[in-house]
Amino acid sequence: MTRAAHPADLSVLREIAEACDLRLSAAQLEQFAQYGTLLLSWRERINLTGITDWQGLQRTLFGDALALVPLILHYCQIQRSGGCSSLQDAAHATGGSSTASIPGCQLLDVGTGAGIPGIPLKLALPDLNLTLLEATGKKVAFLEHVLQALGLTHVLVIQGRAEEIAHNPGYRGHFDLVTARGLAPLPTLLELCLPFLHVGGYGIFPKGPRVDVEIHAAHYALHILGGTIVDVRTPPHPALATTRIVVVRLDRPVPSNYPRRAGIPQKRPILSRGTAAREDEKEGIS
Ligand code: SAH
Repeated sequence: MTRAAHPADLSVLREIAEACDLRLSAAQLEQFAQYGTLLLSWRERINLTGITDWQGLQRTLFGDALALVPLILHYCQIQRSGGCSSLQDAAHATGGSSTASIPGCQLLDVGTGAGIPGIPLKLALPDLNLTLLEATGKKVAFLEHVLQALGLTHVLVIQGRAEEIAHNPGYRGHFDLVTARGLAPLPTLLELCLPFLHVGGYGIFPKGPRVDVEIHAAHYALHILGGTIVDVRTPPHPALATTRIVVVRLDRPVPSNYPRRAGIPQKRPILSRGTAAREDEKEGIS
């Protein structure tokens, strides 16, 4: 394969990884470089990301994804051990090594776009079972190209909308973990993502600094959908000072009428008892 030249300076990425207790091998850094090169070259042809340079890629896209790694390890271990794990245990699982391991963990990235955060997560955690869900065909074509170019296995790409795919029995209630970045405000995000989790699974969502407002707005959606916010974290690196990671546990199966049909979770989010009841009437949900 012929590769465009890429700047070798991935020091920001390396620093962020170290702050997250993860040491990336030379081979992993090379994969990040290849992926970044593809992102920057395809973005000229299709609207993949607003980010135009390597610093931005490392800080914003790769950084937000790597900041999820300790939480992914932790909440995967919790599910394996029936609740007995601490974040320190998770950090020890990485052991600062390049091959942090969570065999068998099924993670879904909803509205992955160009593969964020799913693909950096797969590069950092090679034995992750990753599913990428994206509505737009051109982005799906890019994702398939990346998987082939980087030789990534155990990654499934689905083209479709969460509102439809979440009602497919093969995917509903199937995943240990679900993530999504830049998809929607929390009330809509929860409706699109929680139906994919089995009970006891976790949603791990990178958000911006105004997350408190979103959390406040999401209380009723959590009540309706059966989720609880169990953690809100700031990543351990100054480059990610404005990122907040919200962790939601699914406590009971999501009612079968959610998510509502395509476009409704965005247009009419589950915001309060009053508005939700009116939405249910419009949708014919009783
Ligand atoms: N996660 C990426 C992309 C964010 S933009 C990042 O952080 O860079 C949101 C993406 O979600 C877009 O690519 C859009 O096509 C996709 N999307 C929007 N609504 C969707 C839905 N209902 N189901 C699946 N994908 C959706």
